[in-house]
Amino acid sequence: MYCIQNPAIDLHNHFWVKDRPARFSSQRKDLNTVLESMKRAGIDICALTSDKDYRYERVVEEALKERKREIECFENCVVVDSKVIFRGEEVYTDKGSIVLVGLKKTIWQPRKTRQLVEALKIGKSRKAFILVPHPFLSMGGVKEAIEETIRYADAIEISPYCSKQVNKGVRDFSREKGLPAVCTSDARHPRETGRGFFVSLGEFEFKDGEEAVQKLKECVRNGMENYQRPANLFEIARYLVLSGMAK
Ligand SMILES: [Zn+2]
Repeated sequence: MYCIQNPAIDLHNHFWVKDRPARFSSQRKDLNTVLESMKRAGIDICALTSDKDYRYERVVEEALKERKREIECFENCVVVDSKVIFRGEEVYTDKGSIVLVGLKKTIWQPRKTRQLVEALKIGKSRKAFILVPHPFLSMGGVKEAIEETIRYADAIEISPYCSKQVNKGVRDFSREKGLPAVCTSDARHPRETGRGFFVSLGEFEFKDGEEAVQKLKECVRNGMENYQRPANLFEIARYLVLSGMAK
């Protein structure tokens, strides 16, 4: 049994940019980097979020070669140094992106764009935590499909890339619909870890990965506190350049 008191949770963190082009990615991209940035920012639970790639799989596979005995490996997450790291996946659909946390297997396939409802149904049937990232952002948000999306979602995101006004709209919308709104980092660099997260109030107890995802859903429903530092201009520029490249 694992137990974390009042965990700080970030459900949307890429930690670094895409593998290409090389000039953007001089930093190490391994589990130690993830753990160091989580420790520095005081994050206990995160979703290492793939971005049209296999970063979670690659990072975990490599780490297991070196420190297998220190890592508790479940199908949908690893527990190491008292930190929980979920498989996160940003799924780019025909109507905007969603983030699935705690899938046991990636559903990404190169050059395949999924239908939004198909991706939501997969997330639901596989008991993933479904997060709607930056719902009203013109680049990547589900926007007009928001009503359809929230029928499946566990939370919507207060994004560090959105203005105060847009995020206020997200909070108002979440209250109106009775759907939790959570802060995340949506980080593209380990340094950005900690700029958005929420704290679950109470004990986060679980015995395996499946139960941990269940607990995530419970803790956003039962009350948590959000924390955010909005992205600075450099971080927004990086986000825009990379979003453009991803197309
Ligand atoms: Zn993202």
